[in-house]
Amino acid sequence: MANVDLNDLVKKFDDVTAVDGISLEIPDESFTVLVGPSGCGKTTTLRLIAGLERATDGEIRIGETMVNDSRAYERDIAMVFQNYALYPHKTVQENMRFGLEQHDTEEDVIQERVEDAAELLQIQELLDRRPAELSGGQQQRVALGRAIVRDPAVFLMDEPLSNLDAKLRVQMRAELNKLHEKLSTTTVYVTHDQVEAMTLADQIAVMDDGQIQQVGAPTRVYRNPRNMFVAGFLGSPSMNFIEGNLEEAKTGNLQMDLGAHTHNIPDEYADRLRDRLGEEVILGIRPENVSLSESGVAANVHPGVVSVVEPQGEKTVLEVELETGQTIKAAIAPDMAVETGDEVNLRFDRDSLHYFDPESGTSII
Ligand code: ATP
Repeated sequence: MANVDLNDLVKKFDDVTAVDGISLEIPDESFTVLVGPSGCGKTTTLRLIAGLERATDGEIRIGETMVNDSRAYERDIAMVFQNYALYPHKTVQENMRFGLEQHDTEEDVIQERVEDAAELLQIQELLDRRPAELSGGQQQRVALGRAIVRDPAVFLMDEPLSNLDAKLRVQMRAELNKLHEKLSTTTVYVTHDQVEAMTLADQIAVMDDGQIQQVGAPTRVYRNPRNMFVAGFLGSPSMNFIEGNLEEAKTGNLQMDLGAHTHNIPDEYADRLRDRLGEEVILGIRPENVSLSESGVAANVHPGVVSVVEPQGEKTVLEVELETGQTIKAAIAPDMAVETGDEVNLRFDRDSLHYFDPESGTSII
């Protein structure tokens, strides 16, 4: 087992900076997920750890060892790729054995490890088949099996579930979770799918533009995003953002002028916003924290008209056009009778409000 430490890691491809000064501590036995939009540098970071790319600058440590100059096969890692990368002419068993044979592992050790991994992954019946005779899910298991038999210090996984259909992906996600519980091998996992990241990770690193925007436990990052990028990237549907000017109400309380109506700032947030009086701020509220209110007059109630009703099974997502012209998404219980064209009043849960600086996007609260 081993921790992995990245220190000011940079990777440039000519004039493209794919990884732009990443520092990240990946604790021993953790399941760390690098997540972010396409092109943000996740795969390049993983390939740098694997030794498939050479760092332009910075340090990579696996355990106590600095590995910048070590070849891929000298690093104690095993990688699982998106396309499985199985040898088509070899059987499942031969595919699983191959890496160990290359490392001159003794035959009885190879036998034992292949049998154990096959049992763990429930692929005992498939050992004599070739990859073309397997389903996508079975191929993915074999790819995992090939990594497991190596018994490496670190697993590196690059979007391993993305070629599976939605149902199988959810199933394999649960199996990966169980597998990690059993083996506890330090895992670095790359995905652009934020749901996958949230469900698998014990540590999540949200990346954008070659940099890490925020690192932490998934729920913590979800609840306390450092900036609008992280706030908007995690969660489906995305967080609503509403611009408005901070002003003082007649009562002396702080409020945001949203155009046709106002948003009262709860007292507990007012202190941290008061020095921005007269300036623009951005209010953030997640769709699941927006509800329909009976009353149209209470504070923090925003009238609007339902423009879209999207039943999603466990919830219904509404799009509501406020009088300001802004569209707000609300996730409500599926049994609520709401139709397009209905006039509704939206209430924002006061414990779930976020405020951001419009220029930097940084979270104020
Ligand atoms: P995706 O989710 O689409 O795989 P990613 O977050 O994994 O994206 P990378 O594949 O790491 O992103 O790419 C980061 C940036 O580096 C992109 O702009 C990409 O075009 C560039 N890049 C990656 N590999 C190379 C390469 N071998 N040569 C030149 N540019 C590259």
